[in-house]
Amino acid sequence: MRAMLLDHPRTQLRLGELARRAMEPGQVRLRVTACGVCRTDLHIADGDLPELRSPVVPGHEIVGVITEVGAEVARFRIGDRVGVPWLGWTCGHCSYCTSGRENLCATARFTGYHLDGGYADEAIADGRYCFALPDRYTDAAAAPLLCAGLIGYRALVHAGDARRLGIYGFGAAAHIVAQVARWQGRELFAFTRPGDADAQAFARSMGAAWAGDSSQAPPEPLDAAILFAPVGALVPAALRAVAPGGTVVCAGIHMSDIPAFPYEILWGERTIRSVANLTRRDGEEFLAIAPQVPVRTEVEMFPLEQANEALARLREGRITGAAVVVP
Ligand SMILES: [Zn+2]
Ligand SMILES: [Zn+2]
Repeated sequence: MRAMLLDHPRTQLRLGELARRAMEPGQVRLRVTACGVCRTDLHIADGDLPELRSPVVPGHEIVGVITEVGAEVARFRIGDRVGVPWLGWTCGHCSYCTSGRENLCATARFTGYHLDGGYADEAIADGRYCFALPDRYTDAAAAPLLCAGLIGYRALVHAGDARRLGIYGFGAAAHIVAQVARWQGRELFAFTRPGDADAQAFARSMGAAWAGDSSQAPPEPLDAAILFAPVGALVPAALRAVAPGGTVVCAGIHMSDIPAFPYEILWGERTIRSVANLTRRDGEEFLAIAPQVPVRTEVEMFPLEQANEALARLREGRITGAAVVVP
């Protein structure tokens, strides 16, 4: 089996050989047909997140066709196309798992981090955490739905019923969330890296009423803002942009330190919160909504061998929409 390994030093990926792994009864084996490239993969490669295992095969937006089904898997058959998200396993009995918050399970295992992921031509996943995918999407187009879409959707839900919604960082998640937000009737304000005219034009093409630099104030106060950019300095900027009662949702798994800020920009019942991981319910909800909108994903495809190039382009902000590696 050919697989893309994240190797030491962490930033270096190489093609490697993995022994064909044995499956457990609850698992399925997939032939990977596409895998999305997420900023979290960069954080893992760069050592921004605690190192849990090394080497690990990154990739948690896996689309594949099932080639083998464990004895305990009843939901899927050989030949089914499924998606494998970041949430790869939970304990099922802790207070979080039993209260609809499996995304916070302390012993959860995540795909492409604790578990080998989809920068590979084959993957193994727990069948209970796989999703059936809407037919209208090609494999590459479906891949970004599985993290950018799902976790973006969770962030949007936590923005509440905000009519004027700001989005900081207009990458893979934002371009999907923007379409859902517009479909819901919200007004969209996009903030990009200062001077990134291409990203601002892209945001307008995705329905943003206004697009500008993250250092700018929006033309009118926002009801909520979602931060996809992992830049702590944007938290006070977003607090200044939201009206009293507004919420700032931090959607990334990692962020640089948030600088000190005056209490008055939080005063007025503004809220700062983060969104962590996803529940399977988030996935079912979002994958039902996506074809209704319909969400269209803009993808740049890279052969699996060029996964490093895809990550480098993501780091430099040179991806429009979402990057996808294809074995
Ligand atoms: Zn992700
Ligand atoms: Zn649990």
